[in-house]
Amino acid sequence: MSAALFPLFADLRGRAVRVVGGGAVAERKIEALLHAGALPRVGAPALTPRLAQWAAEGRIAWQRGDFTPDWLDAVWLVIAATDDGTVNRAVAAEAEARRLLANVVDDAELSSFQVPALVERGDLQIAISSGGHAPMVARHIRRHLETLLDDSWGALVSLLGRQRTRIRARFPEMGARRRFFEQLLAGAVPRLLRQRQDAAALAAFDQALVSAAAAPAVGTVTLVGAGPGDAGLLTLNALRAMNEADVILHDRLVSADVLAMARRDATRIEVGKSARGHSTRQEDIHALMLEHARAGKRVVRLKGGDPFVFGRGGEELQALKAHGVPFEVVPGITAALACAAYAGIPLTHRDHAQAVRLVTAHCKDSMDTLDWQALAQERQTLAVYMGVAGLATFRDQLIAHGRAATTPFALVENGSRREQRVVTGTLADLPDTARAFDVHSPALLILGEVAALAHTLHWYGAAPLSAPSAPSNVDAPSLSRAA
Ligand code: SAH
Repeated sequence: MSAALFPLFADLRGRAVRVVGGGAVAERKIEALLHAGALPRVGAPALTPRLAQWAAEGRIAWQRGDFTPDWLDAVWLVIAATDDGTVNRAVAAEAEARRLLANVVDDAELSSFQVPALVERGDLQIAISSGGHAPMVARHIRRHLETLLDDSWGALVSLLGRQRTRIRARFPEMGARRRFFEQLLAGAVPRLLRQRQDAAALAAFDQALVSAAAAPAVGTVTLVGAGPGDAGLLTLNALRAMNEADVILHDRLVSADVLAMARRDATRIEVGKSARGHSTRQEDIHALMLEHARAGKRVVRLKGGDPFVFGRGGEELQALKAHGVPFEVVPGITAALACAAYAGIPLTHRDHAQAVRLVTAHCKDSMDTLDWQALAQERQTLAVYMGVAGLATFRDQLIAHGRAATTPFALVENGSRREQRVVTGTLADLPDTARAFDVHSPALLILGEVAALAHTLHWYGAAPLSAPSAPSNVDAPSLSRAA
């Protein structure tokens, strides 16, 4: 796997940069260099009329002729923009020997730096790179961004730049400064700048600077459902909370893709529960939330799926309530909904099921108290959040209470994630099939006639797997790794 490029914005003001080539491509590069205040030195046998004019005006230096290594003396960077591969390679080799960063236009292989696609709003610059693999994609994204960002962003950046010292003096502490910026960006200043009311924007800024509280007395906790794994299933409210968080307490179940969407410099604490036990005790999680909230932090308690579905969200809020810490809740897409959707299994269907039950069967205790009579009823779908080696018990009890041994099931492992697998069969063979396919945590069991629809309605990832003719073995040992 190739390493990522290191992104970098270079200050080239007053610095010499060599451009080899005097055609249209070179002209564009030189224009960008002039825009950045660099001192371009072009080397080429001939120049475009515009380049020639710039040379005549003394804005660029021109070395007439063919490339020689001394063209790379005393420059900070070099750009090769000729249509002659031999020359481009010679420039790249000479630059490499001198440890000079070189860009060969449209040749990622020969380049030691690349020029990104750029969206510019005054001092605000957004650079986009595809690592040289697909410049067209970078340009496509640039066009997208161009339409999203109007030019008041440039005005905003320059206003904040001019006020930087005052802001720092008012809010020496980083957290307070960040809160101020967030309030400011959500307030009147950006709107006034969009309306070209520069004086009013400045007045609104002054007002905000004076009236903003330095630090909230007590922080808040936002209980956020992170969904099943696919980051696209986060809600807009979840994203906002994750971007404003000072501290993120997340479960192990929360996917890396989701965590990647959170604010980079938020403190992240994994309060994972292992597949088998409770590796961070619930009281310790409560204590952590209280501690950070009391320190004035904005805490996001991030949970897989939905926080109120088998997520102990209720207990956590009760603890906060008892200590007077304010909270909010952002629902998430629970595993049952996500796994069903991503496996092509409608949880209800006029022909097959009029009810859905969300059931937890994570441990022996939770199994012992299940109402098997109710669970065994026909014309309903069970969505079972599985934790343990309990599939055999589950099957035995359901069949004993009258559910047909031929009832279809689907086990959805890693639902909505890249690694998703769907394993199907009938109730009688549930434990054997799960073992045959080595189903792992996290996995959700969907039981009911609708499960069979996965074979026709699947659309995500690989087609469902099923054992060709798994032998029915009611005494099968329980599944040990499903968790
Ligand atoms: N609050 C969570 C459930 C927590 S209990 C929610 O609403 O989804 C943990 C169980 O959820 C796991 O044992 C598994 O049965 C199920 N689960 C969570 N994410 C899953 C996923 N991506 N794929 C399959 N099952 C999942």
